[in-house]
Amino acid sequence: MASGNTVLMRLVASAYSIAQKAGMIVRRVIAEGDLGIVEKTCATDLQTKADRLAQMSICSSLARKFPKLTIIGEELVVWVDPLDGTKEYTEGLLDNVTVLIGIAYEGKAIAGVINQPYYNYEAGPDAVLGRTIWGVLGLGAFGFQLKEVPAGKHIITTTRSHSNKLVTDCVTAMNPDAVLRVGGAGNKIIQLIEGKASAYVFASPGCKKWDTCAPEVILHAVGGKLTDIHGNVLQYHKDVKHMNSAGVLATLRNYDYYASRVPESIKNALVP
Ligand code: AMP
Ligand code: MG
Ligand code: MG
Repeated sequence: MASGNTVLMRLVASAYSIAQKAGMIVRRVIAEGDLGIVEKTCATDLQTKADRLAQMSICSSLARKFPKLTIIGEELVVWVDPLDGTKEYTEGLLDNVTVLIGIAYEGKAIAGVINQPYYNYEAGPDAVLGRTIWGVLGLGAFGFQLKEVPAGKHIITTTRSHSNKLVTDCVTAMNPDAVLRVGGAGNKIIQLIEGKASAYVFASPGCKKWDTCAPEVILHAVGGKLTDIHGNVLQYHKDVKHMNSAGVLATLRNYDYYASRVPESIKNALVP
């Protein structure tokens, strides 16, 4: 077990610097001006040159530092989203963008790194851009100040660019005081841990395991909870279906309030 822990901490430390490097690539592509946008399945499912270059950088660095990762891969699986919030990236909403590296052991998400390349970008030309948030289950989460939404306030954060009737009906059923529509799964979890939103509600397929792995660890490490819309815990073993078909429900506190308000009709429409 000691050697397993050593591998995990080496992996987390490497993921921290690898995610920072990917964040620099994400900034460089915007600075150079040619986003090289490709539509994957539709006009809201995009890939840019930054997604491709960050992906290559993360995967080659991981492979160089951990050549045996595929051998221990049955137990330890790394879920990478080189650029989360691509749609918003192409529209200049740069603080929505994150680089996500999540680590799962025997199907359970246990460590995660979130780099936010444009953190601080509204602070003026001299501001230092970017930050890295990281966490390990049982150890904690670091790189931010934990803050809660004022008690009794129900502020929902949800998708900005992948909405549909199920998504909006479920948000309405939460009886929210306010609704925030922003890009990125990583970004929405940051809103939960920094007191900007009380629940991330996304009653639709679309979000993948690489979107939720790192963010769920950060949230769980500070006592929050992320599940699908039925309340099922997400699994991250290597053969799991990539799509989170039954959506996402995540909160820092008061999970049961939100879970109890998901309409049965919406649950019936979303098969895990
Ligand atoms: P969003 O909240 O819309 O930014 O979605 C969070 C993550 O899930 C992003 O990586 C999106 O690309 C992905 N996602 C959510 N819905 C869809 C969809 N309908 N098609 C493709 N990707 C999606
Ligand atoms: Mg993503
Ligand atoms: Mg992505």
